[in-house]
Amino acid sequence: PNNLKPILARIDRIKHSNSLYNSLISVRDENVLKERTTNYFQKNKIVPYLCSIKDNIVTTEEATTCGSKILENYVSPFQATVVSILEGSNKGSQKDSQNFTKSIVIGKSNLDQFGMGSGTTNSIFEPTTNPLYKNQAHITGGSSGGAASIVTDDVCDYSIGTDTGGSIRLPAHYCGIIGFKPSYGRISRWGVIAYAQSFDTVGILSKDIKIIEDIYEQLNQYDPKDPTSLSNNLRKRIEEITKKRDEKLSIGLIQETNVEGISEEVSRSFNEAIEALFNINHTIRPVSLPSIKNSLPVYYTLALAEASSNLARYDGVRYGFHSKSSEASHGSDSSQKKDEFGPFSETRSEGFGKEVQKRILLGTYNLSSDSFKNNYLKANMVRKSLINQFNSVFKVPNVLSSTEEESKEQLRENKANNNKIDVLMFPVSTSTAPTLEDFLRKDSESSLNSYIDDVLTVPASLAGLPTIVVPWKSAANQMPIGIQVVGQFGDDQQVLEMGQLLL
Ligand code: GLN
Repeated sequence: PNNLKPILARIDRIKHSNSLYNSLISVRDENVLKERTTNYFQKNKIVPYLCSIKDNIVTTEEATTCGSKILENYVSPFQATVVSILEGSNKGSQKDSQNFTKSIVIGKSNLDQFGMGSGTTNSIFEPTTNPLYKNQAHITGGSSGGAASIVTDDVCDYSIGTDTGGSIRLPAHYCGIIGFKPSYGRISRWGVIAYAQSFDTVGILSKDIKIIEDIYEQLNQYDPKDPTSLSNNLRKRIEEITKKRDEKLSIGLIQETNVEGISEEVSRSFNEAIEALFNINHTIRPVSLPSIKNSLPVYYTLALAEASSNLARYDGVRYGFHSKSSEASHGSDSSQKKDEFGPFSETRSEGFGKEVQKRILLGTYNLSSDSFKNNYLKANMVRKSLINQFNSVFKVPNVLSSTEEESKEQLRENKANNNKIDVLMFPVSTSTAPTLEDFLRKDSESSLNSYIDDVLTVPASLAGLPTIVVPWKSAANQMPIGIQVVGQFGDDQQVLEMGQLLL
């Protein structure tokens, strides 16, 4: 579009949309947004994108809260690399920002505290609700629920979210939009507040795959500030082994993802999608990845162990919230001590939500000497074997598990044998979005009930694999159903192309 009217109208709708669905924790000043948009348009003759940033990614213009009291008023002194790239202000960028459409950030989106949850209900800023449902409040899924909701309501062109164990994919599925979680290490995590650092990824939610591709193209670059960013050398190796593909794809259906309780609508949509691919001559192949069955407990063992150590930095001294009651009881003239850890434990008990506290305790236990051997190391071994099983089914070798020579040899062999697959395909969740009421009731009975929602999203996270969720609209279903496509590590391009094919 070459006029400003529609985008200015969307800026005018931000507050109203937010009052309906509570997608945003902070909203930038409308007049500033309009001025930035207009200036950019006048200078470049193109309309910028409007986007939101999940509130666990630091920005300097407002607080970055992680949805938690402990960071409620925390304003970062620096900005995340992803935000600087999108706004066209990243100094060390490997790509020329002039070649890309700039984005205007409208605000920060709601999330479960520190990304811990599957509903966007664990936020001190109240739950986000799903714009697809007008009569009764339904959840968006989590933890990037605000990111999904503001896109679903057509305010933003796209949102930046994070995905540790499904946080982009579950909301995309529940809200009927596209969610893309690239390979681990593709997009910079500099300025992304850690939940579980060996799983955390940054990704994109949108209704338009072209926008996802454009934003991914901008963000897909090495960042020297992020020690887990994929090196330029590995990026080059990946490019070499993933190019020149057959037009006809081989698509794997995993026996182990045929989990109990998949609803009729989910299996109907999924079967329709497979049939459509089959009808245009792609090959469908059953595969078996036995360790998938253990991925949920493995994820919740490792992610919580990492979280317990990441969240140790919130001590009330260096960051954010500091308990007042601790000052009252530990001040110099106070005669009675409340507990031996003093302000540290009071700040954390008041600052972290219940779910976060529970996870810190569980994670600390997993790392304690008793549990370390029995749980933590075992979980790591199962993670390893799951990665090996993924490697054994994909046509493209995993650059992280093989040397340059080995992976070239492997690729030749796999192509000759012709029994390997390009991508895997499975549902995102067993059902469509539950009502807020049902979700909260089940969650209060046991948080295991919401952990179970992650059973189909954590496998790709354990292996760091690129994954896209695209909505499948079936004539027989009321709501769109997300189809999940997973590729080999680094094979993001194939995953995006497959997403395109399903739309
Ligand atoms: N629901 C999962 C969890 O709570 C995943 C969350 C995420 O990806 N941030 O850990």
